[in-house]
Amino acid sequence: MKFSLNEYLEELRPLINVDCGTYTLDGIEFIAAQFEAKFADMAGWQVKRVDCGKAGVGLEIRNKPQASDIDVMLVGHMDTVFPLGTAELRPMSCDADKAYGPGVSDMKSGLLNVVYAMRHLDPSVLDALSICICMNPDEETGSLDSVDWIQAVAKQAKQVLVAEAARADGGLVKARKGMARYKLTFDGIAAHAGNEPEKGHSAITEMANWVLAINRMTNFESGTTLNVGIVSGGAGANIVPEHAEAIVDIRFWSNEEYDEVDTRLNAMIEQTFDSEVKVELKREAYKPSMVPSEATVALMEIVEQAAQELAIEINWKEAGGGSDANNTAVLGVPTLDGLGPVGAGFHSDQEYLLLDSIEPRIKLLMRVIEKLAR
Ligand SMILES: [Zn+2]
Repeated sequence: MKFSLNEYLEELRPLINVDCGTYTLDGIEFIAAQFEAKFADMAGWQVKRVDCGKAGVGLEIRNKPQASDIDVMLVGHMDTVFPLGTAELRPMSCDADKAYGPGVSDMKSGLLNVVYAMRHLDPSVLDALSICICMNPDEETGSLDSVDWIQAVAKQAKQVLVAEAARADGGLVKARKGMARYKLTFDGIAAHAGNEPEKGHSAITEMANWVLAINRMTNFESGTTLNVGIVSGGAGANIVPEHAEAIVDIRFWSNEEYDEVDTRLNAMIEQTFDSEVKVELKREAYKPSMVPSEATVALMEIVEQAAQELAIEINWKEAGGGSDANNTAVLGVPTLDGLGPVGAGFHSDQEYLLLDSIEPRIKLLMRVIEKLAR
């Protein structure tokens, strides 16, 4: 592979200098059109546009669209977490070691690395494999409008490689905690705190009881943790509060333990601490945990071999946060993440891409795919 860092960075720049936060539809459309054009320029690829509802367009890119099986599924997202105006405020820039800018490592360079790998793989390798690349528009808000599509594709796939950035020390991701987020709404009965407090039923008191009960469900040992991260409520110091709200974030390794927590929370609604207070529970986000299976371990060995052959240092990380890898791993499809170039500072203005990791990580991805073709 002949690799020019300058050419790579000039191809990356337009992907960074556009606002494309989740639901910024014209930005997502711009990114999708860029990748559509890149694959149109390569022989043998079919790009299908997938309607992802209010999140906009997704791309399903295949080299053997007629094949019923997929040997290698690659996944990446086109959206960022950044608000409108960020691209203008801090467009892509570089110093001697790093590139900076919104989404530079999370994960425009991951997507571009996939393109480079496909451009440079030997035709015989591509011929031996059925490859499907999915680019979705809403990973950063939980893939709510793309998860059904991603999972439908993954069910046909033998393995999934997610091209999110490798970690600052070169680590890839073999396991990710599951997560769920709930909004709790408490509706009590207001009363004047001076004249007739006995007629009130406090939404805040009910919420306080819930907070303590939720805290008691945490199990640090097994890694199932619950955090009431935001609370609000009440209308005045002299009013028994009618309304309160709480947001709860749950992380877990064991999907079964999480299911138990979910069942308990739903049972608590039926039997509130104060029977006059109504409680509503709404799950706003959910990702199952990604825990390596035997088949995942075999895939890890292939990645380790490839890295060793190329003299690239890698290690395996367990990440607390979720990605689309969680959604494919839960189907039992071996899934690894972190196959993009090395970066850090995700979701902040400190985000960077390590320049001298770009070429080696393209080669690593290519080598892994070459091994899967054998
Ligand atoms: Zn990402």
